[in-house]
Amino acid sequence: QAKQQKQRIVVYSPEQDGHTLRRLTLMAELRAAIDRDELSLYVQPKLDIAGWRIVGVECLVRWHHPQYGMVPPDEFIPLAEQTGAIRQLTNWMLRKGLDWAKRWRDDGLQLKVAINVSTVDLLDPLLAKRVSGWIRERGLPADALLLEVTESAVMQDAEGALPMLRELRDFGVDLAVDDFGTGYSSMLQLKRLPVGELKIDKSFVMGVLRSADDAVIVRSTIDLAHNLDLVVVAEGVEDDTTLEWLKRFGCDLAQGYLLSKPMPADLLSLWLDQAPY
Ligand code: C2E
Ligand code: CA
Ligand code: CA
Ligand code: CA
Repeated sequence: QAKQQKQRIVVYSPEQDGHTLRRLTLMAELRAAIDRDELSLYVQPKLDIAGWRIVGVECLVRWHHPQYGMVPPDEFIPLAEQTGAIRQLTNWMLRKGLDWAKRWRDDGLQLKVAINVSTVDLLDPLLAKRVSGWIRERGLPADALLLEVTESAVMQDAEGALPMLRELRDFGVDLAVDDFGTGYSSMLQLKRLPVGELKIDKSFVMGVLRSADDAVIVRSTIDLAHNLDLVVVAEGVEDDTTLEWLKRFGCDLAQGYLLSKPMPADLLSLWLDQAPY
């Protein structure tokens, strides 16, 4: 047994140690990072394709780490979910996002602000109460907020999350199924969920021009969404030809680098002044 242990130690590579150290550091530091203002809120515009207008933004978190620089959310969100720090992060994003929604409205911009929520957040029975409180505090209409929930998150625990999703929906907050197509959901489940928007995962959208499979998937998802009276959004739109394609097949909203990469929230007004939408 001692021999086995020794062998295991030998196979660790320095990169792996570095990687593990980084994971542990990020895990340990996230809560403090929120208090130290190391996080920032970026936004990416959503275009109403037929109306040629920006109708909303998705809020995306960024972490400027003092040693590691910009840490991508794909790296630290899963860690935050493991430690439970995600709840604090989501609350921070919700309050900041709603602050921006209020500021933009005061400037005459009616933008629907989307915040990503994770499975762990949906298990918090007080989330809906807090969210409605924050919306009221700012005098915002409830539908100024949209919550994006990944397909796998809702389907994984549809029963557990359902009462709270209903509560949010009854209050007037909009809900979207994010990353649609990457998880497993039946039409029946989709119909039972109180969602108003469906976001097609960028992996399919980015392939529509060169993959017949992706094209079929995106076209049938647009039809499925419309048959269920849902607004359908394509994410990951990177070029004009894809946008034209989506328009032809009746997709409602588009989001992606073609319009803009995610930008710091305070740059949005300036961007809108210069954008052709
Ligand atoms: P997501 O919710 O699917 O967000 C869309 C991701 O696609 C964003 O990556 C965005 O920058 C990227 N994207 C947008 N347009 C394009 C495009 O045209 N081409 C390409 N290649 N990518 C595009 P980001 O900001 O790195 O976020 C990654 C994921 O991290 C998000 O995926 C979401 O799952 C998670 N995330 C980000 N912010 C938050 C947050 O505040 N809370 C939670 N719970 N998760 C978050
Ligand atoms: Ca999202
Ligand atoms: Ca997505
Ligand atoms: Ca994603």
